[in-house]
Amino acid sequence: MRHIILKDKKITQLAFQKWKLEDIAFWEKYLGITPTYEVVTTDYSDYPTYIDSDGDIRPTNAYLQKLNDLAIKRDGDFGTDFVMVMIHEDNWRSDTDTTKGIWGTNYSYVFGKQCLEYCRWDRDNEANTFGTAYHERHHSFDAIIKVETGVDIQPLLEVKKYDHEITHGNNPRWKYIRYKENLDSLKIMKPYLQTAFQTRKNKHEEVAKGLMQTIIKLATQVIYLLKMKQNMKNGVPKVTT
Ligand SMILES: [Zn+2]
Repeated sequence: MRHIILKDKKITQLAFQKWKLEDIAFWEKYLGITPTYEVVTTDYSDYPTYIDSDGDIRPTNAYLQKLNDLAIKRDGDFGTDFVMVMIHEDNWRSDTDTTKGIWGTNYSYVFGKQCLEYCRWDRDNEANTFGTAYHERHHSFDAIIKVETGVDIQPLLEVKKYDHEITHGNNPRWKYIRYKENLDSLKIMKPYLQTAFQTRKNKHEEVAKGLMQTIIKLATQVIYLLKMKQNMKNGVPKVTT
């Protein structure tokens, strides 16, 4: 469970550190996974939005695509599992309409071979920040399990609409995720998520190994060409006395 966090520069280092420690402890406890986080400080003081068919204010897909491309540039497609766009409440533009608003959106495999989470960072309520980041990643788990392991997790959770029934709690067994709800769903998904994240990590390592082998092959060729050049001769050199 590897993250690239595109952290709003308005979020203090101290607040971020606190969230990170709580996040690590949570996934360790419920999935048996120790997540990693790579932080890229990002300026969200002005970002492009549009109003969708439901009337929600959303960042443009072109903008999110640009963020995703930027995030995966260094380590490639399988270098991370999540790209998290974490935007401070002061810069958050998806609830500027006073009648309605959204605090986040999950985009599973929309902008690349990763999941992107658009999340609001609450100015002074840590539980809200934690809940939003958990909620959006929870949305992606059924897709991650399906893509990486081929397993449809819905029958195992006894639901037909994962997002609607579990993440949004429209089922007597489950609650809308605001903070740390639906832990039992994590218990059921645990072995599948462990396999899924491990599979992605292995893929990343294979790519890195392949690249290293290519470099070694090229270096060997260069050395050979150098030796050729140093030992080139035409006929028998004349012995001068
Ligand atoms: Zn949701």
